[in-house]
Amino acid sequence: EPYIPKYIDVNYIEGSNDKKWSSLSFPWTKKLEVNNKTIFGNHSFRPNQREVINATMSGHDVFVLMPTGGGKSLTYQLPAYICPGITLVISPLVSLIQDQIMHLSQANIPATYLSANMEWTEQQDIFRELCLDSCRYKLLYVTPEKVAKSDVLLRHLEKLYSRQLLARIVIDEAHCVSQWGHDFRPDYQGLGILKQKFPDTPVLALTATATSSVKEDVVQALGLVDCIIFRQSFNRPNLQYSVMPKTKKCVEDIDSFIKKFHRDDCGIIYCLSKMDCEKVAEKLKEYGHKAAFYHGGVDPSERAYVQEQWSKDEINIICATVAFGMGINKPDVRFVIHHSLPKSIEGYHQECGRAGRDGQLSSCVLYYNYSDYVSYCENDVDCRRLLQLVHFGEKFDSGRCGKTCDNCSKVQSFIEKDCTLIAKQLVELVKLVRQQFSAAHILEVYRGSLNQFVKKHRHDSLSLHGAGKHLAKGEASRVLRYLVTEDFLFEDVKKSDAYGSVSSVVKVNESKVYNLCAGGQTIKLRFPTSTKSSKSGKNDATPAKALLTSGKNSLPLGDSSAQSQAESGISAK
Ligand code: ADP
Ligand code: MG
Ligand code: ZN
Repeated sequence: EPYIPKYIDVNYIEGSNDKKWSSLSFPWTKKLEVNNKTIFGNHSFRPNQREVINATMSGHDVFVLMPTGGGKSLTYQLPAYICPGITLVISPLVSLIQDQIMHLSQANIPATYLSANMEWTEQQDIFRELCLDSCRYKLLYVTPEKVAKSDVLLRHLEKLYSRQLLARIVIDEAHCVSQWGHDFRPDYQGLGILKQKFPDTPVLALTATATSSVKEDVVQALGLVDCIIFRQSFNRPNLQYSVMPKTKKCVEDIDSFIKKFHRDDCGIIYCLSKMDCEKVAEKLKEYGHKAAFYHGGVDPSERAYVQEQWSKDEINIICATVAFGMGINKPDVRFVIHHSLPKSIEGYHQECGRAGRDGQLSSCVLYYNYSDYVSYCENDVDCRRLLQLVHFGEKFDSGRCGKTCDNCSKVQSFIEKDCTLIAKQLVELVKLVRQQFSAAHILEVYRGSLNQFVKKHRHDSLSLHGAGKHLAKGEASRVLRYLVTEDFLFEDVKKSDAYGSVSSVVKVNESKVYNLCAGGQTIKLRFPTSTKSSKSGKNDATPAKALLTSGKNSLPLGDSSAQSQAESGISAK
């Protein structure tokens, strides 16, 4: 009888707020301390590591949201090492698995993996070992496909379970369960079978993808029971963010940026197309860099070679499509450059997250041009961290940025504007379109767009169509975003067709807008005085000039005059 998850009432327990999990008086505390140092070579635990370990070792199902590089592996490898029995780890890619096993073998922790393309005799050797009382493995890694397809594997897991030797089940990169995540893997959805077959074995799900829909999908699909959730901020203090206008001389700009601030450092340049990867790599080589390209069209042996050269520092710059990412474990990536726009802000956060895993200062530079700008680039006011973290449902006080993004480091004067009318009109408009459309669409209508979609839905006939015509686009979108972050409006998802394709729609929080609409509340926002200046609309952005902030580790951030020139170009469009 298949287990059909019900999409209601998941019991989460917030572990992050419970002091109990930080206690130093668990029976295993001493062992944790000692082995973290001697076996794993760490001086201490990072945020939430001890707490997660204590919760999983207490036998609970645990769900961990921790940013890339936060140290998720230790939360199962250390328990695996000190607990009797074997820990089963599900991981999406063989390359990731091999990397983990290499690290484990350096620490003398016996681990192995099974994958479909392994020789059968080799697999049999591993199965045979698993049946032994003296089985030497502490960890067994498998891909989700293996769990779905191999009855032999399941039989061996059953045997281990009945001998009480299946210590823990770990689902790494657990967001792959969810269609909402950016790397959906159908076989991950079948992993619920593990909890059904092995109800007494604690499950530990790990991911760096934090949206609540992903979280719910994971908990449901895996069938986690009264699961304890640990989450922590996705802010990465050691990354410096900036956005630069993309000119025809983009690769030259990249070259001088690298030579000036990251000479001989290791970095990734994300490009949109395979051809771009090759072109950019070629040019950088001409400029004297040790660069190579990496994309889905390169054959696997060549890709493996490039990756290896890169990890040995024989090559220090890789021009890649997003195919190059998961599985990259290099701690000292000093810069991530986006030669073209990332697909989503979530993808952007992930891709930038590959820089500075060792905690050292690193740069994330995004080049954009006017035809493909997004609101992240268009925004010349708000902290870049805040703009990213809002997406993860996190509120961020931009004071904490400490001028480590281009917007915060700008010297500019602000005027405070009363945006109450705009806010009311936007709320009204969301209602007029029956709370069925996206934020981008609301803004189009508000600014009086006459595009096909607006016409098709007859939104050009609404009373508020074009009510915000006189405003710069950035202005209305800032007010709209403010309304979302302050809970006047909220973004919801709707399934738009039978194939389960989804879209995001804006809805009204009635109880919160009541006062605003009744005239009992004013909304004031700060705008830079420069945004309202020249509306020349020229695209002649001066080459990005480095603007140094104070402090010895400073990195270049956007030149504010070039930036605001670019912005006024956009708003005049
Ligand atoms: P994640 O899976 O969360 O992206 P990893 O588990 O791969 O991160 O860890 C990232 C890096 O941090 C690794 O190089 C790891 O050795 C290091 N690391 C993890 N925990 C600690 C710690 N407590 N102290 C020092 N370094 C750590
Ligand atoms: Mg990991
Ligand atoms: Zn900032």
